[in-house]
Amino acid sequence: MSLKSMLRLLSFIFILFAFALSSESVATAQDARELTSYCNYSASSKSKLFRLTDGKTKQIYEGNKNKSNWIEISSPAGDNICGLYILWKGYTSPVSLEVCPSGSHEYIPLGDINTTFLHEFIQLDHVSKIRLSSTDKNGSLPILELRVFGEGNPPEDVQVWQQHSDKNDLLVFVAHPDDEYIFLGGTIPYYCIEKKMQVVVCYMTCKDEFRLHELLNGLWCAGCHIYPELLGFEDKLCSKLKTAYKYWDGIDNALDGVAAMLDRVQPNVVITQDIKGEYGHGGHMAVADLCLRIIRDHERQLKHVPQKLYLHLWEENQLLLDWNTPYDSMNGKTPLSIAQEAFACHISQQGFSHETRGGKVFKFEVADHGMFDNGCFGLAYSSVGEDIDKNDFFEHVVTGN
Ligand SMILES: [Zn+2]
Repeated sequence: MSLKSMLRLLSFIFILFAFALSSESVATAQDARELTSYCNYSASSKSKLFRLTDGKTKQIYEGNKNKSNWIEISSPAGDNICGLYILWKGYTSPVSLEVCPSGSHEYIPLGDINTTFLHEFIQLDHVSKIRLSSTDKNGSLPILELRVFGEGNPPEDVQVWQQHSDKNDLLVFVAHPDDEYIFLGGTIPYYCIEKKMQVVVCYMTCKDEFRLHELLNGLWCAGCHIYPELLGFEDKLCSKLKTAYKYWDGIDNALDGVAAMLDRVQPNVVITQDIKGEYGHGGHMAVADLCLRIIRDHERQLKHVPQKLYLHLWEENQLLLDWNTPYDSMNGKTPLSIAQEAFACHISQQGFSHETRGGKVFKFEVADHGMFDNGCFGLAYSSVGEDIDKNDFFEHVVTGN
């Protein structure tokens, strides 16, 4: 090999090596460094301040009772803060956010937070200090846990929620958190991750705040990053449809609440539960009944009538969906296995069972077989004809309108 060609080869190897190095450094730069344990924290009351960053989401930092409270977070020397992740204890009161840009000592107000998402990520533009202050007369700073990040993308377990658009592809409507996996199987992972559709999940009830955190963790795990609709109706066990409506201040009140939600979401397709209540729960019957009344029977006038309505286990126009195919988009996992992982986020709901009307015991699990096969649905309403291929909720559906 001549000297010239050797030099050419060497320079080629050098370019390759440099390229590998730079793409490596780009990849590293995209992942934000977690600064939580390197920051300095001060507060109006230092008592139990450690609870903000102890990784335990059950305990809250309370500050001084009935006085205005504040917390200050200072970045470690040489680092800037570019992201703040907060798990709120309820939407009890807005909290004011101020920041010092890097190199400055003056606070700039950025407005109120804790107004939209219970798990809230706030992107910041290279700041050295953050100040969070209470805005209500009780002085509350309802923070369960707080994490701080440098420049780049936050890790996957940080939930960066989006609000849903005015029009969406699919609405998954259930009575309680966990029904969306137990009874509707791989619906959410399949349409969110593989089909990349705009999927909104709506919960008629949510018993308490703990279940609200579980619900968000489950949705995030299932690949749904659109913040859910939470209708806030009461969660009470009942075996009759009319009892469920009694708990919800009458059928008209429930119809109005669900019709208003459908107008906010404007989905093309709606999936909901079994009209017989799965194992016989009045709340499950009611969400199916409300959808039939509004979408099929037009008991409320909607801005946009969904093109299709599917009910779990509905006996007409049935289709059996396969949740057991692995997809590259799911790193080789199946929609069913992801739904099982999402159900596992509902820690308070593990290990339960319920007696069915036939006297059999139904174990709460995500299974695409047995009495409540979560791949079995029926088309209860369609303005675009009956299904022919019977393998997709979106067969014949005109999207993008
Ligand atoms: Zn349920």
